[in-house]
Amino acid sequence: MRWSQIFIPTLRDDPADAEAISHKLMLRAGLVRQLAAGVYSKLPLGFRASRKVEAIVREEMERIGAQEFHLPVLHPGELWKESGRWFDIGDEMFRLKDRRQGDYCLGMTHEEVFTAIARDELRSYRQLPQIWFQIQTKFRDEARPKSGVLRGREFVMKDSYTFDVDFAGLDVAFDKHAEAYRRIFARCGVRALAVQAASGAMGGSESVEFMSVSDAGEDWTVTCASCDYAANLEKATSVVSSVDDPREEPGDIEKFSTPGIRTIEALAAFDENASAQRQIKTLVYSVDDQVTLFLLRGDHTLNEVKLAEATGVANFRAATAEECREALGALPGSLGAAGIAELPIYADDALKGRRGMVTGANEDDFHLRNVSVERDLDKLQWASLREVVAGDRCVHCGNELAVQRTIELGHIFKLGLRYSEAMKLTVLNDQGREVPVVMGSYGIGIERLLAAVIESYHDDNGIVWPWSVAPFHIVVTPISLKNADAMQKAEGIYHELQKDYEVLFDDRDERPGVKFKDADLVGVPLRIVVGPKGLEKGVVELFERASQQKEDIPLDRVFDEVRACAARLAEVEPR
Ligand code: ATP
Ligand code: MG
Repeated sequence: MRWSQIFIPTLRDDPADAEAISHKLMLRAGLVRQLAAGVYSKLPLGFRASRKVEAIVREEMERIGAQEFHLPVLHPGELWKESGRWFDIGDEMFRLKDRRQGDYCLGMTHEEVFTAIARDELRSYRQLPQIWFQIQTKFRDEARPKSGVLRGREFVMKDSYTFDVDFAGLDVAFDKHAEAYRRIFARCGVRALAVQAASGAMGGSESVEFMSVSDAGEDWTVTCASCDYAANLEKATSVVSSVDDPREEPGDIEKFSTPGIRTIEALAAFDENASAQRQIKTLVYSVDDQVTLFLLRGDHTLNEVKLAEATGVANFRAATAEECREALGALPGSLGAAGIAELPIYADDALKGRRGMVTGANEDDFHLRNVSVERDLDKLQWASLREVVAGDRCVHCGNELAVQRTIELGHIFKLGLRYSEAMKLTVLNDQGREVPVVMGSYGIGIERLLAAVIESYHDDNGIVWPWSVAPFHIVVTPISLKNADAMQKAEGIYHELQKDYEVLFDDRDERPGVKFKDADLVGVPLRIVVGPKGLEKGVVELFERASQQKEDIPLDRVFDEVRACAARLAEVEPR
């Protein structure tokens, strides 16, 4: 492809409204342009790169026996009402009416449509297992579309769905996907951690996310440096350091006056026996309209995804001060669970066995001391509610945990019977009995993966594509269009290399400096510079984008050198 003819609108400066590096570089290198918040047009270079990613995904899906479909994006509301998600999902779903006032939506994901096809067509266990996938546009009206294509409102996803007659079959399908995902991310050059993830209140038993460590990420991942434990912060658990409680069971609960004290810190400063670790923090939520208490150690933070997992309810919010007063008789800052028998109370595991603690008295400006959790608090439901912090200990090996920002590249999910039961997808098993089909669902965001590649592969001058997803492998750059010999040699090299590689020929009438800058910015892995001085000595310059190494290569060695470089560059360690 001749540079003068391909549309690569590079920008010299960073766009003002882009923060993530991949966002800046995708705009600057002319890969994408924004149409609306979270909606991007792919320009030729961006489309070439994303097709590379798609091709890798497709190959690895086919390797595990998946069959490619292409389903509509326009879905009848009826199907989503059948699964119940029409009502569970809020503003994230784009909904519309047709001319007859029928309900429709734009697919955010395709469990419903795939399940409907399976329900209409699958009859017998003999037709199972099935692995179905597609690479298709999704629409999600994200609350905060961010960081360019990393979180779009329209984006492409590889989504797949598995259908098995039993849970053992699901385990096999799940493991196959985990393996395919490892291969996909490695081939794209990205090191992806497989981490335990929260399944959410929507059901399903097990889910694993694939995470790339990056400051541009919106997830937090907890990892152990010593063993292979890795979990999303929404799911992660830890061992907390023990606290010096009184050795003996303390005397009876005592109420004491704490005038104007409303926070954990203020109480710790007020009473030397009430350090944050020795307090019980009482948080009040309205969970499906039921006032519910959540207890944590004073210095710990509640994670709301864990709240949803613990209660199995997605519809919750913090209670208002008025609701607290109505239910407990005091305002936040003086609340506690002692003496509360009629409200559900969830307690974080870190409170197990704690004694002689301080908590609110449910009377403004009063607290209680000598509170022993198991002795004094009724009907506690134990759960993991607190957020792990760096420095906590691993539950498996006791070593220190780290917390890192990550990008979620993919998610694999054991759905179980969630959709087959709701939508009546059954088959006859080998006993002739009708059983619900066991399902899994699995996603990878194509553009998000591409952006994650750029997050891992760039330098001050621009993108540094890994060979596997580079929109072009090589750029051949004649120094000057005026030198007929150099132009002819350059053109010859270009034509020859095109037989095996994707090659750009920079035939623009620009200064060499401009051409080099652009080639660096768009990240072409290899550059061959053809100029009169070199040709006098019978050489061209081979420049490697990643290492910035230049080497003079005799004309008759160009193809061998390129082949050697290509082989080496194709083998990079994922990062
Ligand atoms: P997130 O927590 O980032 O919103 P999700 O849990 O909603 O992701 P899934 O529904 O599991 O994501 O979708 C599967 C994959 O689709 C994700 O792992 C991600 O790669 C991609 N994806 C999801 N939402 C977006 C988005 N708004 N823009 C781009 N890619 C996305
Ligand atoms: Mg989401």
